[in-house]
Amino acid sequence: MPHPELIVFTDLDGTLLDHDSYSPAAAAPALARLRAAGVPLVLASSKTAAEIAPLRDALGFADVPAIVENGAGLLEPGESATAGGRYEALRAALDTLPADLRAGFAGFGDWGPDGIAEHTGLSPEEAARAARRQFSEPGLWTGGAAEKARFLDALAARGITAREGGRFLTLSFGGTKAARMEEILARYGHPFSVALGDAPNDVEMLERADLGIVVANPRRAPLPPLGGEEEGRIRRTTLAGPAGWNEAILQVMVERSR
Ligand SMILES: [Mg+2]
Repeated sequence: MPHPELIVFTDLDGTLLDHDSYSPAAAAPALARLRAAGVPLVLASSKTAAEIAPLRDALGFADVPAIVENGAGLLEPGESATAGGRYEALRAALDTLPADLRAGFAGFGDWGPDGIAEHTGLSPEEAARAARRQFSEPGLWTGGAAEKARFLDALAARGITAREGGRFLTLSFGGTKAARMEEILARYGHPFSVALGDAPNDVEMLERADLGIVVANPRRAPLPPLGGEEEGRIRRTTLAGPAGWNEAILQVMVERSR
């Protein structure tokens, strides 16, 4: 791995990708600057390797690892998808739960591509890529609150953690965006790190970075004040999504070149 002076970690939906169009077009100038300067851009998302690989190629960062399935796995440089993973083991563990608890949870593996498309609004092709899971199972709890506590306890006893995201309850054998970030920072020799995100599941990453940038997302409640924000270690964009991303990264590039 090269040892750059700067590395950028970014969430995708609502951050580098427009909330509605899923396009990074408004960030094109900043993306070009990063590529020209040899700054690695690490994509970090709840998406699967199968979903992230084509985007990483299109953005021109195929030589940089990506954080997939919310930190439950890594997509290594040059790979178009990763082999293996523990998804089958995760699904098998779910099926060992008492029937009443198992019945309260329905995940992507229960829905299949058609059901995933219905629950997420993804196109059939996108839903098929989202179904190619390796490390984690997003889904919905439809049972009662008391049963949910028992469900979470039973999962914990099987080594499974559950995280509430924007839309889904996601089960995995562990791993977070921030822990993967540590791993990648070590590979690159701990350069100055910038992280961008828009949602609660990005907070750890934003707070871990040397500079965290909260990208405005008018579609959700603003994040509460974060650790380091008063000292200026966290900034907020005024423009939303990729337009805010673009402005913030161009400013960082100017500051870092002084
Ligand atoms: Mg997001």
